[in-house]
Amino acid sequence: MTTVLLMGPPGAGKGTHAGHLAGHLGVPVISTGDLFRSNVARGTELGRTAQRYLDAGEYVPDEVTNDMVRDRLAQDDARSGWVLDGYPRTLEQAAVLDEILRGQGRALDAALVLLVDSEVLVDRLLRRAEIEHRSDDTEEVIRRRFEVYHTQTAPLLNLYAGRGIHYEVDASADIDTVRGRVWQVAVELKPAA
Ligand code: ADP
Repeated sequence: MTTVLLMGPPGAGKGTHAGHLAGHLGVPVISTGDLFRSNVARGTELGRTAQRYLDAGEYVPDEVTNDMVRDRLAQDDARSGWVLDGYPRTLEQAAVLDEILRGQGRALDAALVLLVDSEVLVDRLLRRAEIEHRSDDTEEVIRRRFEVYHTQTAPLLNLYAGRGIHYEVDASADIDTVRGRVWQVAVELKPAA
């Protein structure tokens, strides 16, 4: 049973490395960005609420996000643990996650932070925009997403560092190199049986 947060600014590679990490740990990836986009694509009520925030690069209100995550973490496949990609992003979300975990008699094992220089990030996101056509990958919205990340999410890193569960990975290198670094953390989290 392993519970890991994958943190870092937009474009740091959370989605890419969440998959590898979760595969190694044998747990599902739960990505709030993917959950929102899937709701938008399916035209659900949640999707209709979330869309304008996503398009503007703003966070979806905590209440909406927390309810969605609470439901998702209560599903069967989450019993074995998970890698959370993109949650929590605010102090209030972090408090709610603590409360959910307490209710399940669990603790958080690690917060893995991908660190990348912000100009490298903007380039990566603009390149991704040409391939994936995400509505929030325009330069203006990307800049807003960084601002929001720095004001609302960066303070969470101190919270987890204070608990001694914070692992930093330099993620400016190519994907294979970063994957190797993430792997080293995964090995620490899951010692060989
Ligand atoms: P990125 O990390 O590149 O910004 P994500 O796919 O993780 O991409 O998130 C895309 C968008 O989804 C965010 O800009 C925000 O609007 C919404 N979102 C994702 N996770 C959260 C969250 N925990 N709280 C509020 N909004 C969120």
